[in-house]
Amino acid sequence: MNIAVMPGDGIGKEVTAEAVKVLQALAGSDAKFTEAPIGAAGVAAAGVPLPPATLELARKADAILFGAVGTPGDESGPRDKRPGLGLLTLRRELKLFANFRPAFLFPELVGASSLKPELVQGLDLIILRELNGDIYYGEPRGIRVGDSGRREGVNTMRYTEPEIERIAHVAFRTARARRRKLCSVDKANVLETMQLWRETVAAVGKQYPEVELTHLFVDAASMQLVRAPKQFDVIVAPNMFGDILSDAAAMLTGSIGMLPSASLGEGDKGLYEPVHGSAPDIAGKDIANPLAAILSAAMLMRHSFGREDAAKKIERAVAAVLATGYRTADIMQPGMKKVGCREMGAAVVAALAR
Ligand code: NAD
Repeated sequence: MNIAVMPGDGIGKEVTAEAVKVLQALAGSDAKFTEAPIGAAGVAAAGVPLPPATLELARKADAILFGAVGTPGDESGPRDKRPGLGLLTLRRELKLFANFRPAFLFPELVGASSLKPELVQGLDLIILRELNGDIYYGEPRGIRVGDSGRREGVNTMRYTEPEIERIAHVAFRTARARRRKLCSVDKANVLETMQLWRETVAAVGKQYPEVELTHLFVDAASMQLVRAPKQFDVIVAPNMFGDILSDAAAMLTGSIGMLPSASLGEGDKGLYEPVHGSAPDIAGKDIANPLAAILSAAMLMRHSFGREDAAKKIERAVAAVLATGYRTADIMQPGMKKVGCREMGAAVVAALAR
């Protein structure tokens, strides 16, 4: 198993270190880890957010374990030096178009959810976010001087039929293997691109008559997600709406520090990362929750190496550690034992051995 490790910036470095320890404990000498800089770390090391050597390593690796990228205020710098561009380019270069974000509530964390227990108990849904298209990549884009002589910002929401079809097929196949319910999210009432999204998803759906397909506008979807989240099984969404909805779903699971993700393409290669960012507000303090990164490592074993046994072992170890009352600050509840990032990681490693 050749695993490329890209910790990135801020707490990305802290949580990835714990996920690597978990994989090392599980896979031993079967796994080879090679680390490379990306994001602000890429700019510091090689002047660009995705150094060529990092991209080369990603191409050669069987799987990529990714942390997070970003530094405070970086959104106002030149675009080609922005840390986030490193991740966007990597996803695009490796054609990782399907981003699975499972929102699963560990029973021990029911009290940490932002919703009442009866609304979230047993929550188990997947947000499938399209990752290679939409307004994040569409051209033209930029800030320019408009006809009035004042500046204007331009971005382009764009999807081709084939792009929508391929994510729709993944969505229907995912739903078919679960509770057979798929909700497609769009804004077809306002945006033509989203009208094409809805029509194309519906057309693909004819090949999956066993899956119940519904459509929701993104505003209604976000409302339903916090009103009655258990109605959902699989949600498929375009890039931007999926980004936003999955952060909201994260809060239902107790914290954004609990939500893992897998980004997959046509082959086995995948990129695995926590849904959260580099959290500069808590970086360097050893208080970040490493469980989203550790659960991403479980997804890596499952999807890139077919090691369902190993994935389950990691997920059971996380559940066991939560059951013993260990909590990082973001999921802290009365009567529990507050631990830091490293202590939480070590507890998961110890639980693996039991
Ligand atoms: P964020 O996810 O980094 O943080 C949001 C809030 O959640 C913060 O209060 C943070 O302290 C908390 N948080 C996040 N992860 C946590 C964890 N593991 N444990 C405990 N608390 C956690 O989002 P943001 O503040 O909007 O962005 C910070 C930087 O991260 C920005 O530069 C942004 O561009 C970048 N970002 C990167 C990614 C990525 O690399 N995939 C994703 C989102 C944001």
